[in-house]
Amino acid sequence: MACPEKSDLIEAYADGELDLGSSLEIERHLADCKDCAAVLEGHRALRSALGTASLYHDAPAQLSSRVRAAVRKQEKVFAASPFFGWRWLAVAAPVISLVILGWSLVTVSRMPSSEDLLNQEIVSAHVRSLMAAHLTDFPSSDQHTVKPAFNGRIDFSPEVKDLASEGFALIGGRLDYLDRRPVAALIYQRRKHLINLFIYPAEDGAGERAVETSLRGYNLIRWTRAGMRYAAVSDLNLVELRSFQQALQE
Ligand SMILES: [Zn+2]
Repeated sequence: MACPEKSDLIEAYADGELDLGSSLEIERHLADCKDCAAVLEGHRALRSALGTASLYHDAPAQLSSRVRAAVRKQEKVFAASPFFGWRWLAVAAPVISLVILGWSLVTVSRMPSSEDLLNQEIVSAHVRSLMAAHLTDFPSSDQHTVKPAFNGRIDFSPEVKDLASEGFALIGGRLDYLDRRPVAALIYQRRKHLINLFIYPAEDGAGERAVETSLRGYNLIRWTRAGMRYAAVSDLNLVELRSFQQALQE
């Protein structure tokens, strides 16, 4: 029987896709929930079965010589025909090159840039924080409680601002993992909308204009300031998310 509470997160846990806090929560849950422990066991058994050699079979020894013989026979037919000689290829080669070039350009232009990937990662981290019922590692509306809570957990000290007077209530802080490093996540709330504010040191330290994106129904603003990278993501409308960003910068 599927456990309604956590079963959809068990596979993500087994594949190492959850952040540290969510993983610890799942481990605590697994100790008490037989259903989820069974789901995890099944997932691990399936993975190890897929990894064993019993699913792979060597091709019969004669197959390779039969394929080679068939190819040689076909080559002779082509060589004998005036249409399929090498002269035909000399005419067709530039056309084929153009087709391949065109196809490569289409493929390259469709590949997501590193910026796109980072935006997707930020939105995923936001969604995951809401799904796992693990929004905060240290819930507090007091900036003087949240800021020291990061001490010793990450190698930088994020600025924690109280924006209650601007209409953005601080809910707490959390550790997360983003852009291949641990980051601080601050959670703010405006009406029923939650905002994740991710903070981590910028490698280049250079100033950067704010980038606004909308992805999977969430608004996202990224910017760099005083050597730190910031990313605010929420289902809050863009105008109010901008005023959140403005309030942070003041
Ligand atoms: Zn369960």
